[in-house]
Amino acid sequence: MTVPDPTPDGPARRCGLVAIVGRPNVGKSTLLNALVGQKISIVSAKPQTTRHRITGVRTRGDAQFVFVDTPGFQTRHGAALHRTLNRTVRAALADVDLVLFVVEAGRFGLEDAKVLALLQGEGAPSKPVVLVANKLDAVRRRTDLLPWLRSMQERHPFAEYVPMSAEKPADVERLLGILEPHLPRQPWFYDAEMLTDRSERFLAGEIVREKLFRLTGDELPYGATVVVDRFDEEAGLRRIACTIVVEREAHKGMVIGEGGERLKRIGSEARAELERLLDARVFLELWVKVRSGWADDEAHLRSYGYE
Ligand code: GDP
Repeated sequence: MTVPDPTPDGPARRCGLVAIVGRPNVGKSTLLNALVGQKISIVSAKPQTTRHRITGVRTRGDAQFVFVDTPGFQTRHGAALHRTLNRTVRAALADVDLVLFVVEAGRFGLEDAKVLALLQGEGAPSKPVVLVANKLDAVRRRTDLLPWLRSMQERHPFAEYVPMSAEKPADVERLLGILEPHLPRQPWFYDAEMLTDRSERFLAGEIVREKLFRLTGDELPYGATVVVDRFDEEAGLRRIACTIVVEREAHKGMVIGEGGERLKRIGSEARAELERLLDARVFLELWVKVRSGWADDEAHLRSYGYE
């Protein structure tokens, strides 16, 4: 029998980084949104997590789940899982505590296999991997699922096998309960109260960051960040200026794109979403700047609002 620890940071508490991986369209974003309970629930990143973009935090009972994005899985173009990318993905997965490998229940195709391969073999991180067999509601004959689950057992020694629907709240809660024992016992990274404290200014940076990562997909290397330089409120209008800071000159080109197309798109998508979220007109200016070495420099990290 375990006795709950009375001290807030005592051994009863669990906290860990959780990566959600899987080929496009299996329901990763749906699952993340359901797990986190709101679209964005993010605070500044902690040192443990500077390699990752935090996509959400969920605190439930004694456990805090910190969900992170993994480059290579953000992209909608799953074809690009080439060798160098594999290395990046593996490095990124090296410091998470738990991996959710999402597939569609009853299905396992080539694209799924490519993603699973990243979690296996030489150089693969030895993390517990939970098989999330999503879209269970779309499976007509549940009896077919047993042999399928057995075949999945042969593909990988998954820590858990969870057939479920990301669209069913009860299933999502059950999943959290299953994941909890796999988080390491350690103090929470985030003060549960802090998670709700999200300013509009902060939100602006997060939305630009989301678009930046989504639209640069696999190409954008680690180390890119977004700084909100200006956030002014005028009657029904927000004037926002952000700088996208990249580590190398070459990365700048990736963000800007041919003829500035990509940066334009990042800006227009971010603006549209911010207008919806803030219910106001948004004037958004984006700049791209190179700052080498910042990722290793704590002082810089702090000045960029990471601490
Ligand atoms: P991602 O590309 O892996 O992030 O997948 P999305 O979260 O965008 O989901 C892809 C599609 O699957 C969307 O149309 C979702 O509505 C749908 N979807 C996600 N979860 C479920 C589920 O549990 N059941 C069903 N039937 N559809 C789902």
